[in-house]
Amino acid sequence: MEVSHQEIDMALVVHKYGGTSVASAERIKSVARRIIATRRKGDDVVVVVSAMGDATDDLIKLACQVAEKPNAREMDVLLSTGEIVTSTLLAMALRAEGHEAISLSGAQAGIQTDANHSKARIVAINPHRIKEELHYGKIVIVAGFQGITPSNTQDSHAPSSTGMDITTLGRGGSDTTAVALAISLGARACERYTDTAGIYTADPRAVPEAVKLSEISYEEMLEMASYGSKVMHPRAIELGQIYNMPILVASSFNDAPGTLIHGGTMEVQQKVTAISHDMDVAKITIVGVPDHPGIAAGIFEPLAQAGISVDTIVQNASVQHITDLTFTITKGDAEKALNVVRPIAEMIGARECIADTNLGKVSIIGSGMQNTPGYAARMFSTLSVAGINIQLITTSEIRITVIIDETQTKRAVQVLHRAFELDKA
Ligand code: ADP
Ligand code: ASP
Ligand code: MG
Repeated sequence: MEVSHQEIDMALVVHKYGGTSVASAERIKSVARRIIATRRKGDDVVVVVSAMGDATDDLIKLACQVAEKPNAREMDVLLSTGEIVTSTLLAMALRAEGHEAISLSGAQAGIQTDANHSKARIVAINPHRIKEELHYGKIVIVAGFQGITPSNTQDSHAPSSTGMDITTLGRGGSDTTAVALAISLGARACERYTDTAGIYTADPRAVPEAVKLSEISYEEMLEMASYGSKVMHPRAIELGQIYNMPILVASSFNDAPGTLIHGGTMEVQQKVTAISHDMDVAKITIVGVPDHPGIAAGIFEPLAQAGISVDTIVQNASVQHITDLTFTITKGDAEKALNVVRPIAEMIGARECIADTNLGKVSIIGSGMQNTPGYAARMFSTLSVAGINIQLITTSEIRITVIIDETQTKRAVQVLHRAFELDKA
C-alpha cells in the first residue's frame, strides 16, 4: 500500500471492534455507547467492525453445503456481507442515540485491493468519501475485512465485465482495514477493541496465569501474529510498522489500560517477551529426493502457483546425493499440497511423500534474545523434561520455534511460560 506524506490529525482516531465485541444487539448498543463517549471528548471517530460472533464461520459452512469447492469470487462476496450486517446495525444504534452516523462497505470507503480472492492485499485507499462524511460531522462505520479490485474500464482491450470485484483480506483481516484506514486518514492512533484486555505473555485461553504487557514493539508483535497469536492480523502490524502508526489493543468490555504496539524506544529486557502457539500445522516429507540444483525450485514453484503458502522448510544433509525434504503448511492446504507434490516426487524419482496433519508449533519471542546465548538450550531442555518430542526447529533473530505433536502444544506453552518466568512479568 502506497501512502503519500500525511499530516497527523490529532483529533481523529480509528476504532476497531472484533467479532465477540459485536456478537449481539446488546453488545452493538454497548459499542455505540463507547463511541459516543469518545465523541463527547471531542474526537472524530472512524469505526471498523468485524462480522458478528461466528457469522463468518457460519457463512463458510453454508457455502460448503451448496458446493464442495465454492467459487472464490462468490465466496468473497458472501463473506463480505458479515461485516456489512454489523456496520449497518451499529450505524442504526448510533442514530437511535441521536448521533449522525453512516455505514460504508469497503468499496464505498475507497479500499482497493489486488484480485487475490480470500487473501487480497490493499493496494490503495481513496479516503475521499470518509473525509467528506467526517466533514459533515458524521461518525463513519466501515465494514472491515473487504475491498474491491480496480475498474478495468479505462483499458480499452479489457472485457467490460472485469474489475470491480469484491475481495476479502484473509481471516482476521478487519485489523488490517483499521490500521490501513488510520494511516491513510492520518489518524493519531488505531485502537483495536477485543475480548481480552490487551496483548498477554501467552494466549490467556491456554495459559490462565499469562500477564498483560503494557507495550510491545512492532517486531515482536509481528513475530507473535505470524506464529499463531490470532490476536492481531500480521499484515496490520506490518503496515503499522512501515508507517509508524501506534496501535492500542484493549478491552471492549471495560476501560482497563491496554497494550500499546509501537516503534518508539522501549527498555529491552534480557528475557523472553511472549510465547505464541498455533495448532494449525501440517507437515509433508518427500523421502529420497535426488540432491541436485533445481530440485527445490521444481517443488516449491508449483506450490506457490497453487496459492499454497509454505512455512518452515528443512532439507536433511544428503547421503550419497539423496536427501529428505520437509515443509509445513496449514492443515487446510495439506491435501492440495500433496496433490501438487506427489506427481513431482514421482517424476524426479523420490521414494515417497508422507503427510502428518496433527502438528502444532510453539514459539518463544523477545528482542532481548538477540545475540544472547542459552535461550534455545533452555527451551529444548524444558520440553525434553516434559517428555515433548521436537520434530522441527526454526529461528529468527528474536524467535525460536519448535514443531511438535498437536496434542502436546498447549502443555508446551504452559511449561515454557513457567520456565521463562513469564508469570512474573
Ligand atoms: P476479535 O474478534 O476482537 O478480532 P480475536 O478472536 O481475533 O478477536 O482475537 C482475540 C483472541 O486472541 C483472544 O480471545 C485470545 O484468546 C487470543 N490470543 C491469542 N494470543 C493472545 C495473546 N498473546 N494475548 C491476547 N490474546 C491472545
Ligand atoms: N470476520 C472475519 C473473520 O472472522 C474478519 C475479521 O473478523 O477480522 O476472520
Ligand atoms: Mg480477529
